[in-house]
Amino acid sequence: MSVRASTAARGYGSPHQQARQRYLARYRPGDPCTRCGQPLPRDTSLIDLGHNDTRTGWTGLEHQACNRRAGAINGNRARSNPPPKPVRRTSVWD
Ligand SMILES: [Zn+2]
Repeated sequence: MSVRASTAARGYGSPHQQARQRYLARYRPGDPCTRCGQPLPRDTSLIDLGHNDTRTGWTGLEHQACNRRAGAINGNRARSNPPPKPVRRTSVWD
């Protein structure tokens, strides 16, 4: 039986935070973003750790904006479950 941790499965659980710290320990200001290639900011609070599409591994440090943009795309795909349409009343009894 496999263990399913929903928070970790989404990629933002404790293992993610620990991996981010490991990457940040080797980080030098100006290192390139793995997603867009532009230099990363000196303020490490603005840096996220990117993960691959299947969320089985890390790709490296990237801009928070780049990471959030990619996450939104994945999230939209997962959220493709539309709410039920309101029942349209027919006036059969009137
Ligand atoms: Zn970037």
